[in-house]
Amino acid sequence: MTTDVDQLAARIRGGDRRALARAITLVESTRADHRATATELLDRVVDATGTAVRLGISGVPGVGKSTFIEAFGLNLTRRGKRVAVLAVDPTSARTGGAILGDKTRMQELARTPEAFIRPSPTGGTLGGVARRTREAMLLCEAAGFDVVIVETVGVGQAEITVSEMVDLFLLLLLPGAGDDLQGIKKGISEIADVLVVNKADSGQESAAEAAAAAYTDALRIVGADPTVLTCSALEGRGIDAVWAAVRDRRAEMQASGTLDRRRSEQADRWMWAAVEDTLLHDFRTDPAVAERLPAVEAAVREGRMAPGAAARELLAAFRNPARKSA
Ligand code: GDP
Repeated sequence: MTTDVDQLAARIRGGDRRALARAITLVESTRADHRATATELLDRVVDATGTAVRLGISGVPGVGKSTFIEAFGLNLTRRGKRVAVLAVDPTSARTGGAILGDKTRMQELARTPEAFIRPSPTGGTLGGVARRTREAMLLCEAAGFDVVIVETVGVGQAEITVSEMVDLFLLLLLPGAGDDLQGIKKGISEIADVLVVNKADSGQESAAEAAAAAYTDALRIVGADPTVLTCSALEGRGIDAVWAAVRDRRAEMQASGTLDRRRSEQADRWMWAAVEDTLLHDFRTDPAVAERLPAVEAAVREGRMAPGAAARELLAAFRNPARKSA
């Protein structure tokens, strides 16, 4: 693929969804020339990023994430907003199959010209998936998307990772369960800014209200102060209020300076993550390291060499390839 970076950057800035999709493919590629192009591209468009609402959405499978995102996204596009949906799915990294963000799950939203849906990048570590998602997020912003939703499953580390790339985090919950937080790790409910009890319909309205009250109490005790709401994604009820809560909380963060602070810290962390990623990649692909690695790794596994000494030897080979024949 030959890529004219200037032309691609211009098309992205113009809001061209095909150019955006192509740029995200470059960001997700493991080929060195694609990575180089992607880096250059990001650098060209970064000045057009930063104004979007970055929203993380999570919840256990079956809670209604795709139903909710479809209803929420359509609600926003009807307000004239452009909405991008990205996904971080650590299980797809393992299985090679993209589960979240799958277009078949949000068909109406996917057909809307003001929306853009991209499944989770596959392969690699959670850190690698996170890096590609962050970069995709910036590309979406450069393409003029007003709200970027990053979806993930309620399993733990992925939520923490996503919370580090978004402004706010929305957690979807089921009615009924109350104080046990539905097996969702305590730390996750604590990072949520907005908690929404979904499926408040079909006779479950009061159970949903009771669950909302229980969550509010439980989180107050641990010092968290999220906005807690109920909704029915299926019937499209309560969706306006969810957007109002997201907008209000973000406006508060903006007014207090929290948003700026959070974003600068995130940008700094992203830079260091990129440094670590690149260094590790260069290290692993270094010929001098690659030559020594099998023997050194075997020696460590068999207890013939201390891990620290082995690391020093590999790092010495990396820094000074001439020593490789020593
Ligand atoms: P996900 O796995 O979290 O993405 O959940 P889905 O959006 O696929 O929804 C799981 C199931 O719950 C589907 O059968 C949906 O139709 C249903 N569902 C989603 N939202 C609601 C809701 O607000 N009310 C009811 N009654 N069912 C819902």
